[in-house]
Amino acid sequence: MPHKFRVISAVLFGGLLGLAVAALTAPRLYSSPELMTRNVVLIVSDGLRWQEIFTGADPLLLNSKNGGIWAKPEELKREYWRDDVNERRAVLFPFLWGVVAKQGQIFGNETKGSIARVTNGLAFSYPGYNEMLTGAPDARINSNEFGPNPNVSVFEWLNGMPEFHDHVAVFATWAAFRDIFNVSRSHLDVHAGWDPPYTGAGITPREALLNGLYLHSTRLEDDDTYNSFLQPALLDYVKSQKPRVLFVGYGETDNWGHSGRYDLVLESAHQFDHFVAELWNTMQQMPEYRGKTTFLITTDHGRGSGPVEWKDHGKKQRGSENIWLAVLGPDTPVLGERTDVAPITQSQIAATIAAFLGQDFRRAAPRAAAPISDVIHAE
Ligand SMILES: [Zn+2]
Repeated sequence: MPHKFRVISAVLFGGLLGLAVAALTAPRLYSSPELMTRNVVLIVSDGLRWQEIFTGADPLLLNSKNGGIWAKPEELKREYWRDDVNERRAVLFPFLWGVVAKQGQIFGNETKGSIARVTNGLAFSYPGYNEMLTGAPDARINSNEFGPNPNVSVFEWLNGMPEFHDHVAVFATWAAFRDIFNVSRSHLDVHAGWDPPYTGAGITPREALLNGLYLHSTRLEDDDTYNSFLQPALLDYVKSQKPRVLFVGYGETDNWGHSGRYDLVLESAHQFDHFVAELWNTMQQMPEYRGKTTFLITTDHGRGSGPVEWKDHGKKQRGSENIWLAVLGPDTPVLGERTDVAPITQSQIAATIAAFLGQDFRRAAPRAAAPISDVIHAE
């Protein structure tokens, strides 16, 4: 990977001067020496409902009739069903409820007066990722096959600043992120889809083994690799390149929902929680990240509810606009599960990421929604 990295750096060097001038003239409105955050990670599990996050396994779907369960429902219940809702959600998401909610904040529990939602009106992937990454919905983006994004993401914008240049990276299972981040314009370091993650001469036997899995595994989705394949490449990259602004996109929860396999929705949601914990713990062991890294964890859209509509999402499936957002880091007040608060929107995520790094994204993108001030503590 370092080989590839150097080539990208060389290509980008030509544009550096202009970018440096632009950044120098930019007032740092949010500049605050009190903020501890030096690194931000935005993590998304595609199409993972707020219902599972806050109430755990859904009793309506824990059966073969509605949940398409192949394994024995009794075994699944033993694993993920608890009568107490707090125990039930914690057994499904041990890191989210055992660490994130205890040391950070989590929005989106509609049963307790907290609403998080998308404003793009479509509630599917590309419009959602565009909204969270660029700070505003775009009515032109009405298809997952839209092609290169005309809008500039907060990642591309930060990468244009000398402080963050070449320290911004994207790791995602879905190949469409090349378009969502507009790689040909942004030149961001995007690792997405089934492309083998390790390139260049002199790759290790372990890297060759992982490349082989990318090349020779039978694919469930042609443009979406497995979360477990993304994870080792992601951890290797974090250890060697130490990015300061990182996007991580996990895809499986949406795919299993569309397949109508509630057993595998739960399994992939549980594994997603493990991957987030593993990334957090890996970073906290590194001096570059320990005590100065903020995680934002969310989803791109909700899904319908009930015995049939849970499988899909969009305009037709009521409630698909509802999402959730968790924040964990040194600048986030420990308020845990938020209740009876003002609604937040997906469009606020972009400016919130920038604000954690002392930057005002709305200076560059006036249409972007304001940061979520509740999650940033600055005295
Ligand atoms: Zn979907």
